[in-house]
Amino acid sequence: MEKIKMTTPLVEMDGDEMTRILWKMIKDELLLPFIDLKTEYYDLGLEHRNETNDQVTVDSAKATLKYGVAVKCATITPNAARMTEYDLKEMWKSPNGTIRAILDGTVFRTPIVVKGIDPCVKNWEKPITLARHAYGDVYKNAEIKIPGAGKAELLFTAEDGTIIREEIHNFTGPGILQGMYNTESSIKSFAKACFNYALDTKQDLWFATKDTISKKYDHTFKDIFQEVYDQEYAKKYEEAGIEYFYTLIDDAVARVMKAKGGFIWACKNYDGDVMSDMVSSAFGSLAMMTSVLVSPTGVYEYEAAHGTVQRHYYKHLKGEETSTNSVATIFAWTGALRKRGELDQLPQLVEFADKLEKATLSTIEGGKMTKDLALITSLENVTVLNSEEFIREIRKELEQLF
Ligand code: NAP
Ligand code: MG
Repeated sequence: MEKIKMTTPLVEMDGDEMTRILWKMIKDELLLPFIDLKTEYYDLGLEHRNETNDQVTVDSAKATLKYGVAVKCATITPNAARMTEYDLKEMWKSPNGTIRAILDGTVFRTPIVVKGIDPCVKNWEKPITLARHAYGDVYKNAEIKIPGAGKAELLFTAEDGTIIREEIHNFTGPGILQGMYNTESSIKSFAKACFNYALDTKQDLWFATKDTISKKYDHTFKDIFQEVYDQEYAKKYEEAGIEYFYTLIDDAVARVMKAKGGFIWACKNYDGDVMSDMVSSAFGSLAMMTSVLVSPTGVYEYEAAHGTVQRHYYKHLKGEETSTNSVATIFAWTGALRKRGELDQLPQLVEFADKLEKATLSTIEGGKMTKDLALITSLENVTVLNSEEFIREIRKELEQLF
């Protein structure tokens, strides 16, 4: 069989620990035998980030802006323990944070639905994609513990010295106080990323806030979404036969539980944090979740939603067998290859991505899976495979599709 050709390189961001091991296995077993793989390789493994003073992370993000599509392996975000473990020069920032800041993106997470791993909510027939605004609000707040009686005010001083002042509360005793913010430009980026993603995947877009109570803060989110929709998307949505739907957050939560799925649910930062954990655990597990960062200019970075699976890696280092689920990492590759294929008009590459996903799912549906899935599946008589065996079984399934 002739290998599938690529025209533009993918930006390949290698990572750490167990996911770095899976990364190589996936390339060797599932990609290189079938594709004349073209990538621009960046080693985001912690050792190399440390050697380059984290310049490699910045370079990989810039390359993503240049080429448009990246695939990223999970990476360690350094903490005190990692400082000693890797003898780091500095506690380098989270690569995801650095990349997000450069690409200015929104993160979309979608459960990978497979027979035998059933959602807890029985009417969810299709996946629900959660789009989380990952900037500002309570994550960038200022808080005060009020010791006793007194007046709390919001105060804004403009550059020209003009002052806007608003009373919050007259305290008669001790209490608590919180101030938070967001920016119009960040909300606009968030809105555009959501509208583009829904259009791209031909699904309805839901957005919800608490605008009836928060008449300025949340209402601004609602207004900006509506403005962006009316100006840039209304016509395109009509043509694509999809809908933009705004409602109150409590109404959205109630509707989501009754819905069949198959839509994008855009959430403010806090709502997205809480609701994405609910939706993902109700669908199965983090290892069965796709995650993609989409910038407002249409740049895509695909990754797995889970971390580097450190505990499994230490077992692997001791020569013990691991049963680590590679599905999310495989789907990061298929997502990136499919997008590259679409952008470069390479139908064979798109088809390959479809086949690899199909082979992965049919392996699981055939009762062959890693331990994490074996623990939650409704299938009977399953075979628990180790990390390598699982990938090799997928290879067998994949070969049958050619
Ligand atoms: P984690 O790597 O997601 O793993 C937590 C636990 O979840 C594992 O110990 C394992 O449970 C289970 N798990 C996660 N992914 C799995 C998979 N593919 N297959 C089977 N089981 C899986 O989170 P962590 O241990 O908290 O973090 C480890 C490192 O990852 C940290 O250094 C953190 O900074 C980094 N991290 C990176 C990203 C990213 O790059 N996107 C995201 C999160 C965390 P059992 O041990 O019970 O089997
Ligand atoms: Mg959370």
